[in-house]
Amino acid sequence: MGLKYLWVSGVIIVFLQLITGSFGWGQHGHYVVCKIAEGYLSENATAAVKELLPASAEGDLANVCSWADLWAIRTHYYWSRALHYVDTPDFRCNYDYSRDCHDSAGRKNRCVTGAINNYTLQLTSACHNPAFKSRYNLTEALMFLSHFVGDVHQPLHCGFLGDLGGNRIHLHWYHRKANLHHVWDTEIIDTALKKFYSSDLNIMIESLQKNLTENWSNYIDSWEECDANRTVCPNPYASESVSLACKYAYKNATPGSVLGDDYFLSRLPVVEKTTGSSRDSLSRRPKPCIRFLRVDL
Ligand SMILES: [Zn+2]
Repeated sequence: MGLKYLWVSGVIIVFLQLITGSFGWGQHGHYVVCKIAEGYLSENATAAVKELLPASAEGDLANVCSWADLWAIRTHYYWSRALHYVDTPDFRCNYDYSRDCHDSAGRKNRCVTGAINNYTLQLTSACHNPAFKSRYNLTEALMFLSHFVGDVHQPLHCGFLGDLGGNRIHLHWYHRKANLHHVWDTEIIDTALKKFYSSDLNIMIESLQKNLTENWSNYIDSWEECDANRTVCPNPYASESVSLACKYAYKNATPGSVLGDDYFLSRLPVVEKTTGSSRDSLSRRPKPCIRFLRVDL
């Protein structure tokens, strides 16, 4: 059992890294990220994940990857609100864990990268010591982790403090009022679904999976990079995200502007590729503990 939990954490890590993309995301984005990640789980890892899933997931991790964003959850788990993002200093375009990872009250480690570290630790601890299984709610740990890995790859979940990651930048997405954060969470993906994938999420997922094995294969090594002694590496993801936010999300998206085809068509590859990189993370070399599990299970 312990081994299985460890495997879960390994999977998540892979999964986390796999999500190097910008699917920070609304429901579709989180579903796509988790669905692609599931395809890289071993048989044993799949079984371990299913063992932790709630009945509402119906055996599919992707079905609960947006759980942490549900209104009822946000209300009941109000304390978790700050764990979905990390704010960075305006126009600095960089991220520093010790400087940036805190909530609005200044409490350290309460941000998306801190949460990824925390829930990974919970899952791995339960693997190494069965006593921890009763200490933590591992089902929630799995659902939070799979969600936050998605969030950290959405560039504006690591955006500027002054505009709250684009939430305060009010503009138009084509003819509709929107804010920049919502454009990156939802509008780009949903517009692509309608224009290029016949509003069929499965077709979009298949297209991304194909890119991962073909067009983006040369990026896999860099997406897999993580310090040798660490199980998870959320800091590089946050750094990449704020860099992408400056280069693409904020650029030409000033308050009152109208974002249309030019913005959509030039930013969509960023969204898609970030998703691809997260999948590559999945395929990266396993950490020692995970390798051990692979051998043992
Ligand atoms: Zn979220």
